[in-house]
Amino acid sequence: MSLFTDLGLSQEITRALEDLGYEQPTPIQEKSIPQVLSSKADLKAFAQTGTGKTAAFSLPIIQQIDLDNSSVQAIILSPTRELAIQIGKNIEEFSKYTKGLKVLTVYGGSSIDDQIKRLKRGVQIVVGTPGRTVDLIKRNQLKLKNIHWVVLDEADEMLNMGFKEDLDQILEVTPKEKQTLLFSATFPKEVDAIAKNYMHKPVEINAGKKNAGADKVSHEYYLVSERNRYPALKRLADVHPDFYSIVFCRTRRETKDVASKLIADGYNADALHGDLSQAQRDIVMEKFRKRQLQILVATDVAARGLDVDDLTHVINYKLPDQTENYTHRSGRTGRAGKKGISIAIISNKEKNKLKPIENKIGKKFVAQQVPSGKEICEKQLFKLIEKVKDVNVKDDQINPYLESIYSQLEGVSREDLIQRFVSIEFNQFLSYYEDANDINGDDSKSRKTGGDENFTRFYINLGKMDKINPAKLIGIINETLDKGDIEIGQIEILKSFSFFEIDKNYENQVISSFQNESFGGRSLIVEVTKQSKQRSGGGRKRKSFGGNRNDFGGRKGFSGKKSYSGGGGNDRPKRKKSKRY
Ligand code: AMP
Repeated sequence: MSLFTDLGLSQEITRALEDLGYEQPTPIQEKSIPQVLSSKADLKAFAQTGTGKTAAFSLPIIQQIDLDNSSVQAIILSPTRELAIQIGKNIEEFSKYTKGLKVLTVYGGSSIDDQIKRLKRGVQIVVGTPGRTVDLIKRNQLKLKNIHWVVLDEADEMLNMGFKEDLDQILEVTPKEKQTLLFSATFPKEVDAIAKNYMHKPVEINAGKKNAGADKVSHEYYLVSERNRYPALKRLADVHPDFYSIVFCRTRRETKDVASKLIADGYNADALHGDLSQAQRDIVMEKFRKRQLQILVATDVAARGLDVDDLTHVINYKLPDQTENYTHRSGRTGRAGKKGISIAIISNKEKNKLKPIENKIGKKFVAQQVPSGKEICEKQLFKLIEKVKDVNVKDDQINPYLESIYSQLEGVSREDLIQRFVSIEFNQFLSYYEDANDINGDDSKSRKTGGDENFTRFYINLGKMDKINPAKLIGIINETLDKGDIEIGQIEILKSFSFFEIDKNYENQVISSFQNESFGGRSLIVEVTKQSKQRSGGGRKRKSFGGNRNDFGGRKGFSGKKSYSGGGGNDRPKRKKSKRY
């Protein structure tokens, strides 16, 4: 393995790298740095997040910038503001001893006037998001005629996010004589088209290993039914007292749903998705980085550029639609030399998504069992004991009270005392998990017989007269709810109306989604209805409707409320806010 000095980097740069604790170049750095230092050929690099690609393209550029010339010589385009800021920050760190080098990061959502002022004062490297970069070019404030380097970072993501037109506009105003460096985790035809249009005989390099930390990541899956997905997530968080994780969801709506359930259940969690303003996103990310949040529930795109090295787990609450996204997600754990765990919570229907991912990552998922209530309690209990052992006792502050404490506790034995102290912290946990069910395995098939207490039964004013059959009704439900993965239980089609059952967690959503819907010009009426008498027999114990069986073996019992509140978030008593973070 070579050293940074072997790659031809200057002393100023290698000193800065030493300060950052970079000892050896990563594979992509080993290949890219000498290439860009010694040749003007365009470069097409296969590289993912976490491979060290930022240094791979920035270091040789920093070294070659003409410091006597204050015009823009390099432009680095990145898909998100967060990633752009991260790159800008990295360049400042790398050029700490390269006197006279100026870098500016430009992005939407912050004052364009300030950015223009900085440009006027002279900068040599601009890092920007495509939208703001185009804006500055159009205002004639960002001039690219002296550009020597163009970097397209995460090119696939920029195209995914709809920046094709912006990229075209930017690339068209750059001079012919320049070096273009394109970094992408995947090479779909859109990225190849950009490479073909704007690059000349590019040299291709590959980071070798797909991810610097990939070897250190183990991949696990937990098979549960749809209704147990959320309880499984909570158990995974609870069984790991030091849980610090990103929970990936597929849609913004799901992200908001899961985060609000976690918050309502007392976890230090928040959501990161595209509906938040930039300022709100910044606040959430900062809190997560500072570990004031333990769980960040995020969409793939929103989590881009969030640089956190010490996640204990990445959770795929739902597996992504594109297998590439799984590698991006799992690459966020196992970084900085640490071990990482990437977990997929899956239902039976999603089992077939594992194979293509295994092919892509070259590793097998290991099936794991969702921990039982007892296991969770044991883990938490021992963590608590450790905390007691390690607590920093402030003698001078505690001592003045000791005498009266001792006298109050007189007559209480050592054993009794320990029991009592532990119970203060722990009683709530024990009662959460007392009698908790085994939630492993997808039992949805056995529950499809109807009348299950985990389903809510609805009436709809559509029936055989409207030429409705079960398949048609399922289609209407999925379309109206804009979701294809909600569990639908028994369906009964009658002459002018029908009944259908839906996972009770979606009760609210069904009611609100159907509110202004019509069918054949007639307004649709959908209401929660009771279980029919005819079906409530059959030897199975059934509840009237919306039974509130939960993760805890049904101890909570039926609330009797016909309100649509809750949305399934609170399926256990509120947990005391963790003080761990
Ligand atoms: P990147 O792929 O550029 O986002 O880098 C991923 C992480 O690896 C960042 O936290 C970098 O600071 C770190 N990193 C990059 N190169 C090295 C290196 N040669 N040695 C140690 N850490 C590195």
